[in-house]
Amino acid sequence: MSTYRYKQIFVALMLTASVASAQTHIVAPPNKYKPSDDVKLGQDAAQQALKELPMLNDPAVDEYVAGIGQRLVAAIPPEFQHPEFHYTFRVVNQKEINAFALPGGPMFLNRGMIEAAHNEGEVAGVMAHEMSHVMLRHGTAQQTKATPYEIGAVAGQILGAIVGGTAGSIIAQGSNFGISTYFMKFSREYETQADINGSHVMAAAGYDPRHMAEMFKTIEAQGGSNGPQFLSDHPNPGNRYQYITKEAQMLGVNGDRAANNGEFVRVQARLKGMSPALTAQQISQQNQQRRPVGTGGRAVNVEPPSGSFRTYQPTNALRVSVPSNWSPVEGGGSSVTYAPQGAYFQANGGSAFTHGVEVGVSQGTGNLQNDTNSLLRGFAQSNPQLQQSGKAKNDSVGGRNGITVQLANVSEVTGQPEYISLSTTELRDGSLLYVIGVAPRTEADAYDRAFQQVRRNIQISDR
Ligand SMILES: [Zn+2]
Repeated sequence: MSTYRYKQIFVALMLTASVASAQTHIVAPPNKYKPSDDVKLGQDAAQQALKELPMLNDPAVDEYVAGIGQRLVAAIPPEFQHPEFHYTFRVVNQKEINAFALPGGPMFLNRGMIEAAHNEGEVAGVMAHEMSHVMLRHGTAQQTKATPYEIGAVAGQILGAIVGGTAGSIIAQGSNFGISTYFMKFSREYETQADINGSHVMAAAGYDPRHMAEMFKTIEAQGGSNGPQFLSDHPNPGNRYQYITKEAQMLGVNGDRAANNGEFVRVQARLKGMSPALTAQQISQQNQQRRPVGTGGRAVNVEPPSGSFRTYQPTNALRVSVPSNWSPVEGGGSSVTYAPQGAYFQANGGSAFTHGVEVGVSQGTGNLQNDTNSLLRGFAQSNPQLQQSGKAKNDSVGGRNGITVQLANVSEVTGQPEYISLSTTELRDGSLLYVIGVAPRTEADAYDRAFQQVRRNIQISDR
């Protein structure tokens, strides 16, 4: 293909002091969306991110990160340059090691990531990796693949994701606000692409791509029992370190900007002098306090679940039967909520329900246990009061193997203890179907019977 030859020439020109002997050819995955859709989705999500995440707003640090970003932008291969994309770089005053980039270009880099890095090359490595997901348009490509289970339009995915309701925020994987489900959690196949393409971008920008592999090791080393969110959004396809090293050798890199570490050291020292970054939990608590729905103390009276059931078909692939006095309410885009009258609350872009079920699909890896755990982790991050109250049990969900976990929470609406049951099963493409039942603790028994019926009777036609 002519674009391939062009790229080789391009890389060879960029690496003035080296010879580009060969490189792995990257082809962006099929995508039914227009690049302008990426831009729109990313901007909506970025606005939400700016509202819910504390920006560091330090000119010196911002300028440093933007400088690295601009060098990488200038090194984007011609075939992946989309004129409508606009790459921006913001530093979040958050402690956890994480970074994410939204479709069309907005990137957010946690302060904790910069603090954990050993040199500028490692920061550039994470940024080149994130930018590669953007330029290869992985967010919308993933959405293209997800069609059989799509609930609502792609614009609705963002809406669903930013809904900050009690159980609605279970889709908040990836960070303490919820836009990650479709745009920030990637398959191993896309991870490999972002690693290899990120290596090309790094080399063309004058960085040794091996720093990217080293940064993944740095992140893994900080793992702990939960593992950093970054690794759950960007799973290691296996032998990551080896193939990045091999790609670097093929690229024949022999210059490295990161060898001059002065500016990086000054920025790290500057961060050290500031008051500590906020944890995800602190940020989440601040957001809960600001959220109008979450004022608590509201009295809610709802009639008990009907013994008769009514069936809805939210997508071609799903049929859901719920008590006949529940109806679908607005809310998630990647999910749909069924609630009785008087149990659903909405204000200023936030929503919550006190009784009912939410049925949704989230990105998975094909491993039911791991995917359920990562869903739970995201849920816990955005719901600081949430606790697991029973052991996870094998259960039948829509006639297939599933898991049910019981949880205790405090309702944002009423301020009272809340019972939550979460059930999951895998879909054929490896994504995760989940059913979340929510009821006040005092009504848990009556509702648990309804939740059980809903998850057992759900009909999935994905094969
Ligand atoms: Zn990734």
